[in-house]
Amino acid sequence: MNVVYNFSAGPAMIPKDVLYEAQKDLRNWKKSNFSIMEISHRSETFIQIALEAERDLRELLKIPDWFKVLFCQGGARGQFSAVPMNLLGNSKTADYINSGYWSNCAFIEAKKYCTPKSILIRKNDDKKESLLSINQWKINKNSAYIHYCPNETIDGLCIHEEPVFEKKIIVGDFSSVILSRPININNYDLIYASAQKNIGPAGITIIIIRENLLKHSSNITPSILDYQKISENNSMFNTPPTFSWYLSGLVFKWLKKQGGLKEIEKSNQKKSDLLYKKIDASDFYINNIDNKNRSQMNVVFNLINPKLNAIFLKEASKLGLNYLRGHAAVGGMRASIYNAMPLEGVRSLIEFMSYFENQYG
Ligand SMILES: *Cc1c(COP(=O)(O)O)cnc(C)c1O
Repeated sequence: MNVVYNFSAGPAMIPKDVLYEAQKDLRNWKKSNFSIMEISHRSETFIQIALEAERDLRELLKIPDWFKVLFCQGGARGQFSAVPMNLLGNSKTADYINSGYWSNCAFIEAKKYCTPKSILIRKNDDKKESLLSINQWKINKNSAYIHYCPNETIDGLCIHEEPVFEKKIIVGDFSSVILSRPININNYDLIYASAQKNIGPAGITIIIIRENLLKHSSNITPSILDYQKISENNSMFNTPPTFSWYLSGLVFKWLKKQGGLKEIEKSNQKKSDLLYKKIDASDFYINNIDNKNRSQMNVVFNLINPKLNAIFLKEASKLGLNYLRGHAAVGGMRASIYNAMPLEGVRSLIEFMSYFENQYG
């Protein structure tokens, strides 16, 4: 069978080694004669898996003790509601940094709970698309928190700097960038990420929250979105998605085996550099984003002649290069090259792009 590379933005590729291991375990977990999918989340076996996943995640991201790690459901969109419900306190407003599709969705959802301020940071001068750097963000004094999205999955825009604001609560939607590089957790108060981009299968959402923020939920907060409630119950207030949790744990072990986040960062840098270099060297493909805001995870590009889009996608998938179509909101192409995408996948894509350009350019 030919090798297939999946450039989907999410659910996205999972490392092959992890899939093989899960397959081996699927019916008969460590010679127990049962599947991990058919045992209680309260069993000793599963609790060990859950604890180990948390331990490995803490090690990878160097999460300090004063942060809690929660495993929840509801995806990142669930967090669009959970964040205001848990963090507004008596405040009536919060700052939403608007850098693209997903940060705007978070802003729209927050309007149900308060009067959020949308702070537009996207600019379009010199024909290059870029984002205002953090020291230019116009933060409001009375906002309860700042919400931002470091990697706009659909727009291919990334904020590489880390936010540092004195005495402000910083919330980051890390769904498509978590675990792609080391970060300093102490620069944040709350980080959330749904799993299906850079971790594992859909169904689980990871929350890293400063412990002193747990107790501020409004009393209409659904219990399953209440950080304090989730934390008190060790992320098992309701039945967690056990299989996603288990598989995410395998991905954490895989990451450790790759050498941790410093090594993964090097690999991600290399993959995205190669692809952008290809795009920039050609008059056939284009990406208009300023270098400083280009995403390493989601590389968007257009064919100068959009009439060729359909045939590009068709020929690519014939060669096993799948799901390169850009999100409907922006069109064009998007190659999502998360941690699990091997270098060979990116090389194959580049090779195909050159071939296609020669054929149709
Ligand atoms: C995919 C994505 C979301 C939505 O995630 P769901 O799990 O579908 O709710 C939100 N934010 C970002 C940055 C994403 O990439």
